[in-house]
Amino acid sequence: MYMPRVLLLNADWSPLQFISDIRALRLLMKGRAEVITLDETPSVWDEYYTSVSCRYQIPATIRLQLRVNVNPSVSRFRKRILYNRDDWSCQYCDKKLNWNTVTIDHVLPKSKGGKTTWRNCVVCCKCCNRIKGSKLPQEANMKLKKQPTEPRLIHFWNLNDKHNWHNDWTTFVNPRGIYSCSTIE
Ligand SMILES: [Zn+2]
Repeated sequence: MYMPRVLLLNADWSPLQFISDIRALRLLMKGRAEVITLDETPSVWDEYYTSVSCRYQIPATIRLQLRVNVNPSVSRFRKRILYNRDDWSCQYCDKKLNWNTVTIDHVLPKSKGGKTTWRNCVVCCKCCNRIKGSKLPQEANMKLKKQPTEPRLIHFWNLNDKHNWHNDWTTFVNPRGIYSCSTIE
């Protein structure tokens, strides 16, 4: 129900992360953020705020009043974000995958000391995963489509939820070079 649906910007207008509407309203009420654009879709909060005679429309984008420092490399490893980053396709054979067929391959295998990190994990089909086993890609004669990197902010959005994507977000969420962080409270 309370999915992330509000884009939070830093005071310098750089995108930080997607947050829930509850968290966005809390930041607004505490005066820690300002509304940049509004969400036009109905919200569970509409009725509540009408009833307390202080109607709040849910924002689509808000901006912090004070800049917070973010470390771009702190985003916690999460499978779904990895699947989004690799566009749900096997990084060896390009096959399209879903929740039932997706697996994760450690490029440097765990048995050789490979860690579960953004730069060592890629989306892989079951078949390629079996063939690669505990070898390096070159040892298994397999080639990665691209080098794995930290995810960008856009990968934190549920891409199956395209209808909820706000056009104005594209102004702030540059599909290139933006990293996310999960430490803002
Ligand atoms: Zn494959």
